[in-house]
Amino acid sequence: MSSDRQVVRIEGRGPVAMALALFLSRQGFDAASISIDPIPAELPPWLESRSIALSLGSWQLLSRVATLAPAAPILRVEVSLRGRAGRTRMHAADLRAPALGYVLRYGPLHRALAAAWAARQRSAPPADADEATPTLTVIADGEPGTASKVRDFDQTALLAELVVDRDGHGAAFERFTDEGPLALLPLPQARRYALVWCARPDEAARRAALDAPAFEAELLAMFGGALGALRLDSDRVLTPLQRRLRAADVDPRRLAIGNAAQALHPVAGQGLNLGLRDAFELAALLGELRASDRRLDEVTARFARARRADRGLTVAVTDTLAQAFTFPAIARLESLALGALDLAAPARNALAASLAFGLRNA
Ligand SMILES: Cc1cc2nc3c(=O)[nH]c(=O)nc-3n(C[C@H](O)[C@H](O)[C@H](O)COP(=O)(O)OP(=O)(O)OC[C@H]3O[C@@H](n4cnc5c(N)ncnc54)[C@H](O)[C@@H]3O)c2cc1C
Repeated sequence: MSSDRQVVRIEGRGPVAMALALFLSRQGFDAASISIDPIPAELPPWLESRSIALSLGSWQLLSRVATLAPAAPILRVEVSLRGRAGRTRMHAADLRAPALGYVLRYGPLHRALAAAWAARQRSAPPADADEATPTLTVIADGEPGTASKVRDFDQTALLAELVVDRDGHGAAFERFTDEGPLALLPLPQARRYALVWCARPDEAARRAALDAPAFEAELLAMFGGALGALRLDSDRVLTPLQRRLRAADVDPRRLAIGNAAQALHPVAGQGLNLGLRDAFELAALLGELRASDRRLDEVTARFARARRADRGLTVAVTDTLAQAFTFPAIARLESLALGALDLAAPARNALAASLAFGLRNA
């Protein structure tokens, strides 16, 4: 390897790390200019089966670099408030888009990206992580670190899979309750849904311990009958919810992307989408520097500027949605706002576009 070769070191083994490596290849970086942690063949079961809603924008970005596993298209999103009048629907057809997004599991997504990266490595040997001195280190290991700024929502997510009675025809549901949001996402198998039920930690733990019929009855009372009977068809997994923001790195040759930079509440399904936009924009900026023979560590300040608006807005909106409806005084206003949104097609479509393509681009 020539001593003046510039190497990007990627610390991480998850979807954002692999997407960055693939986006860099697309920008013309050969495999010997990229070093990435070994990609695990097996994932822990709680991560393997996690359902992920990818926005249409993320789906399109990833489809350029990998062959994605079959996924369930989200054709409409129904947003409602439990016990109040507000409700709004967003349709892919209103945006003239094939879907608002797609739902797949973390495991198949991981393997699709790993296969695409392995194919690139077969055509050119990768950089040796121990030998090469990186010009730039990108932290994409999913962990914002101990010095991160933490916001505790006092909520735990109960995750499970359900078989439902009625076909939802591509509908995803987001129901805001006074305990926290409850989401049902369509899965690639017919009449199968992923449940993300956020509530106070003691309530979530109690529900996780109920026998299946009692659990299903409580869920039906909370969600309503839009999908008919709901049958539990998996283990129930509890995940405590915090938002964590990484403290800025003092070393200008290091920067963080994806969950290593910001780990969000899952309410709006934005965590991975934001991380993929981080990776895409970083690869584009590095491609520009490389094309003009500049040092790659010049990217850090430009990257921070380029990502400030999207990151700030996505964190703020996600934080607000996670808790807004749990405060009775403002829940009424939100109900009015949702009702108004249903009448105002342009506003509703702007919200749908922001979910599909990222808030900054709406
Ligand atoms: C309940 C829930 C639902 C979510 N739903 C969505 C959604 O619908 N849409 C969306 O865009 N985002 C969603 N997210 C967020 C999304 O999972 C993360 O933003 C995304 O995985 C970050 O990717 P990454 O590559 O930066 O980090 P990752 O590498 O995926 O790291 C994320 C976490 O997984 C751990 N981890 C990763 N690999 C391993 C391994 N091999 N062994 C053990 N631990 C590992 C990390 O340590 C870290 O804690 C959700 C998150 C949660 C908790």
